[in-house]
Amino acid sequence: MRLTFYGAAQTVTGSQHMIEVNGKRILLDCGLYQGRRAESHDRNRRLPFDPQSVDVMILSHAHIDHSGNIPNLVKNGFSGDIICTHATRDLCAVMLLDSGHIQEKDVEYVNKKNRKRGKPLVEPIYTQVDAEASLDSLVSQNYSRQRQVLPGVYLTFLDAGHMLGSAIVILDIEDHEAHRDVRLVFSGDLGRVGIPIIRDPQTVDSADLLIMESTYGDRLHPPYPDAEQELERIVVETYQRGGKVIVPAFAVGRTQQLVYTLHKLANQGDIPRLPIFVDSPLAVNTTDVFRTHPECFDAETRQFILDLGGQADPFGFQDITYTRSVEESKRLNFLRQPAIIISASGMAETGRILHHLKNNIENPNNTVLISGWQAPDTLGRRLVEKQTEVRIFGEPYTRRAQVEVLSGFSGHADRDELLAWVGAFQRKPQRTFLVHGELEAATALAGGLKERYGMAVFIPEWKQSFEV
Ligand SMILES: [Zn+2]
Ligand SMILES: [Zn+2]
Repeated sequence: MRLTFYGAAQTVTGSQHMIEVNGKRILLDCGLYQGRRAESHDRNRRLPFDPQSVDVMILSHAHIDHSGNIPNLVKNGFSGDIICTHATRDLCAVMLLDSGHIQEKDVEYVNKKNRKRGKPLVEPIYTQVDAEASLDSLVSQNYSRQRQVLPGVYLTFLDAGHMLGSAIVILDIEDHEAHRDVRLVFSGDLGRVGIPIIRDPQTVDSADLLIMESTYGDRLHPPYPDAEQELERIVVETYQRGGKVIVPAFAVGRTQQLVYTLHKLANQGDIPRLPIFVDSPLAVNTTDVFRTHPECFDAETRQFILDLGGQADPFGFQDITYTRSVEESKRLNFLRQPAIIISASGMAETGRILHHLKNNIENPNNTVLISGWQAPDTLGRRLVEKQTEVRIFGEPYTRRAQVEVLSGFSGHADRDELLAWVGAFQRKPQRTFLVHGELEAATALAGGLKERYGMAVFIPEWKQSFEV
């Protein structure tokens, strides 16, 4: 049996891991690598293995760094099943199409420049049409149900608590060549304990081999209840100043968590009644998917729905408006009273959030609320650093609005939560491979695992293979 790490090796994005056993190939995830444009384009376009040689693919969750290269995989000849949870399938139906649209737009922009410079034109990695075609390959199954995916290979999903539909992958494999049974566990992305809407990550009792994420292997987050109180304080203070709260937020996951928490706070009378706008077509579409998957909700969210009469919508109440059209979005520019505007992109790099920042950033009564990790060199990061001169659409603006950072909403387990998750294995894995983390974070987590549990831990390099 052999493992090869084709992505998310010493980095966070581009999750792709191959298992070869009994003459078959199983691909775990097929994510997009997200880095500098030219490098990413090449790396994503040419898959590092032959798609036709893959027998089955298992998808841990719908985030683009795990699912985003599926259309390219299918376009290049993969004809097996892609197995994921029901919610992941439905999120992919929205998110892969959106990604296809982004790929097309991106290439349009690059080609405009290339044409001017007399350089050859490039093709999109895939189009919306390719994305749509790839959805035919998705086959879904619920959590905690075992199913044979190849002769002698049995798959079970557990809840990873990271986003709607996110899964821990358990593969019970009859390794015919080595005459043994092997349990391989892939953590996928692991969430935090106590985060709203979704359940806490489930634990696993035993494993022989473990492939595990390490995003925050070197960092701790504040506990989630503090984040809820922080949100309350920020909304109340901004309201008292007569200002608006502008929130750049990822359309999938973060937006729904914020909406649900605001709904709860408003119901409890902890925040004043003020209009809340979700201004992102992708967020509107994915919120619809959330509504149709109550099987993924945690006990608190289920109780919240029951308390409101069973028919209640955790993502909709009288104060909230979802805006889809450009006209509706533009109308928000003329809003004068206190309000909350949640919009994408999450790092304020593109999208409608830029218009809202442009219109609101120079007013000291307003607050820009940052609720997720911000990559270096993004407008979001510059706001976190509280820079006073920022550029939006190429124009300079003086930031007078307050900036607040809410880190408790993170979608990823921190160091202590990762260590505790491994602690729950009654039979510890013989070998553990750390992926989905920068080298520093992975090294720090490897140190913790060795010290606390005496485990054998490896941090694979890109394309590195292991006989296991
Ligand atoms: Zn993820
Ligand atoms: Zn990820």
